[in-house]
Amino acid sequence: MSPGAIATVAEFLAHAAALEWESAERYEELADNMEVHNNPEVAELFRKLAEYGELHAREVEARAKGLELPRIAPWAFQWSCPEGPETQCIEALHYLMPPHRALDLALLNERRGRDFYADVAAASPSAEVRRIAAEMVAEEEQHVRLLEHWIAHLPAFAGVLPDDPDPPNSPE
Ligand code: ZN
Repeated sequence: MSPGAIATVAEFLAHAAALEWESAERYEELADNMEVHNNPEVAELFRKLAEYGELHAREVEARAKGLELPRIAPWAFQWSCPEGPETQCIEALHYLMPPHRALDLALLNERRGRDFYADVAAASPSAEVRRIAAEMVAEEEQHVRLLEHWIAHLPAFAGVLPDDPDPPNSPE
């Protein structure tokens, strides 16, 4: 979908709601995963980001009240994996994922969200859409910075966790 093709507030809000709900759900999964992984600090970070996503989604829906929103394909804003789409890291969310990987995954997708809003803010033919999108760029930029900060300061122990999420007793 080309951001320049988003010409109405209703279209934009439908996309934004899909993006924010996807983000909130993935963060809840990441938080659950970090709890299993005994990493309460990173779990808490992800819960906070899940809350932001949900808050944004509800703000978007409040703004959309009275508008008829077009349907968005549910996969349009699915998170993608740092290693490429074929590695299916999203399915791996249900298993153990080391914190640095989880943070990389989150950062990649926050950047995608920010870039989507930035593209709309630059390319939509509607001034109103450009204005709302620009507000959302600023918010997403804060999430990107928060994750970058965590990645830069992740305790050293997290860096030496095994990279392989397979359980140690799995058959070779
Ligand atoms: Zn965000």
